[in-house]
Amino acid sequence: MDCLFCKIINGEIPSSKVYEDELCYAFNDINPQSEKHILVVPKEHICCLNKVDEHNSHLVAHIFEVIPKIAKENGFESYRVINNCGEAAGQTVMHLHFHVLSGSNLGEKLV
Ligand code: 5GP
Ligand code: ZN
Repeated sequence: MDCLFCKIINGEIPSSKVYEDELCYAFNDINPQSEKHILVVPKEHICCLNKVDEHNSHLVAHIFEVIPKIAKENGFESYRVINNCGEAAGQTVMHLHFHVLSGSNLGEKLV
């Protein structure tokens, strides 16, 4: 499958790894939108949040257990988690991912 994040997960494309376990992979965003900008992805290819269902939602739950660990390990006192679902919402890579943004330069909140 021609998926950028699948290639990053399997090492075909290099990345700056932050965390990895059997279910998920986390790495620094190549174009950070804040001082610290980490992407957390399930290792299983799920194109977007619309494809999360009762069969794979445990992977999302797992990611939300891992995010606080990543935050603690990286010294994030405050942070923001974002998922863009669908092109009109800004999703450019069609492999489910959660942005974890932190640092002193977090912009205006959207919500
Ligand atoms: P989206 O716009 O789909 O919500 O987020 C995709 C994110 O992937 C963007 O923030 C973008 O900077 C990041 N990205 C795109 N290509 C690469 C890459 O090759 N390596 C890394 N580390 N991040 C990437
Ligand atoms: Zn993928």
